[in-house]
Amino acid sequence: MYEGVVQDLIDELGRLPGVGPKSAQRIAFYILASDPIDVERLANALREVKDKVQFCVVCGNVAEEDHCRICRDPKRDLTILCVVEESKDVVAIEKTREFRGRYHVLGGAISPIEGIGPDALRIRELIARLADGAITEVILATDPNLEGEATATYLARLITPLGIAVSRLASGLPVGGDLEYADEVTLGRAFEGRRRVEH
Ligand SMILES: [Zn+2]
Repeated sequence: MYEGVVQDLIDELGRLPGVGPKSAQRIAFYILASDPIDVERLANALREVKDKVQFCVVCGNVAEEDHCRICRDPKRDLTILCVVEESKDVVAIEKTREFRGRYHVLGGAISPIEGIGPDALRIRELIARLADGAITEVILATDPNLEGEATATYLARLITPLGIAVSRLASGLPVGGDLEYADEVTLGRAFEGRRRVEH
């Protein structure tokens, strides 16, 4: 344990995903030893991201306006929708340049262990988007792990009765991993070879 503010910083850093107590301590002491200008830049970046960035009212992606860059783009195909867990997955898929439709960001995956049920995700918003019949294909691009598969199965059961084609990314993605960690070529191929889900 350290004194007051140093311990506060270690505690706050330790709450970040993937940062254990040892890393939190290392980062805290790195910051303590850093040039005040660098620390100010970091503090500003943290403040500005919370001030300026919001979530797209349509798709849930991060945006600097009401609508994200992709939802504002008139050249995107309105008939095809790609469902992902997080905004970082949108970035990974955009890099492949294989997909020209729009996205729907769920905000996570169904995980009974972590107490995340369908109601905690943006599934109601997804079904509402499908109501007017403009979207004819939904690609389920949730992560290739247990929670991602469970979420895809759940969504396929909801969406196929609506008469919308549902597909899942082709195998070849590293099983158990995160979509964002797949390299561009693998992810691009998974898009091309997506399989129709039948129920
Ligand atoms: Zn959007």
